[in-house]
Amino acid sequence: MKYLILLSAIVLAFQSSRWLSPPASLGIAPEPVAAARLPRNIILLIGDGMGIAQITAGIYARADKLHIERLPITGLMKTHSAKNLITDSAAGATAFACGCKTFNGAIGVDTQKRPCRTILEDAATAGMATGLVATSSITHATPAAFIAHVSKRSEMEEIAPFFLKTRIDFFIGGGLSYFNQRADGRDLCRELQANGFDIYTYQQRPLHQCRPDPTRPFAWFSADKEPEGVHKGRDYLPLAARIAPPFLAQRSDKGFFLMVEGSQIDWACHKNNGEQAVQEMLDFDNAIGEVLRFAEQNENTLVIVTADHETGGMALLRGGDKKELKIKFSTLNHTATLVPVFAYGPGAEVFSGVYDNTDLHAKMKALLQLGTVEAR
Ligand code: MG
Ligand code: ZN
Repeated sequence: MKYLILLSAIVLAFQSSRWLSPPASLGIAPEPVAAARLPRNIILLIGDGMGIAQITAGIYARADKLHIERLPITGLMKTHSAKNLITDSAAGATAFACGCKTFNGAIGVDTQKRPCRTILEDAATAGMATGLVATSSITHATPAAFIAHVSKRSEMEEIAPFFLKTRIDFFIGGGLSYFNQRADGRDLCRELQANGFDIYTYQQRPLHQCRPDPTRPFAWFSADKEPEGVHKGRDYLPLAARIAPPFLAQRSDKGFFLMVEGSQIDWACHKNNGEQAVQEMLDFDNAIGEVLRFAEQNENTLVIVTADHETGGMALLRGGDKKELKIKFSTLNHTATLVPVFAYGPGAEVFSGVYDNTDLHAKMKALLQLGTVEAR
């Protein structure tokens, strides 16, 4: 018996050491994309930290169906970063944006810290309109990885000037102070305005009082730094998701690329707060509903909903009352589980199956026929 225990300890140790680093078979070129129809527009919605359990909790919290169930194609995605089985949001978003596995904390740079072109930059170069919406600061890891190139996600003041370097037509999020209260004294809001931007802040007017004029690029700042959670009254995400697609559609006849992030599902799960996680999930789902309404009326629009990783190792257990769900967490951090992908619209079928987060990039880029855009 003693030996058996010893033996299983060795086997376990061996197995876990095998899993300390990501699988070696990385970098396999994805299958060429064969879609029945190509989209003109892509709207990518990222629920930060949104695993299967977070979605399930949302579904059961709302007796109705969630909008996320209306996307007919589903797939599963591996999320590990270059050197870690458990990714952070920076490496996760860089995989979507650039198609390369990189180190945790990296924003739009590869493992050698070299800038890698993002799908948003490629879309802009091709004359498409582009947009970013988040419930974090707009310089936070997930949105930042689509537009900026820095090796440390915490360098928010280094990330902000990238909003002046690339064509971006529309952005909404927090992080105003990284634009206008900077150590270097620059006022990036002024500079954006000089470039033709209409910029409003939460102090000037709430989003629902803004009337974005599609003849000019538009930005709205929701907070000086990080926006509040839904539980404290934040309500702009679904509205932003309603305004952005028709605005971008009018900005270019070549189509648009828009990323919308439900940033705070992750933050609630880091706090192991199930109630707030569900509230953030439902808020994100309302944004999905707004985007789907646009896509149903504009058949050339592909909608993709996914997550960068799961957070909290959320489990749904039986509560005291049999009908009630109890949300439990197994960690304060991210986990390595596969995350789901949902797709609707032309090209949606290529998102079924099991694949890598870098393949999501390759699929989107192939569908937008951005492959011939010159490298930086
Ligand atoms: Mg995020
Ligand atoms: Zn996180």
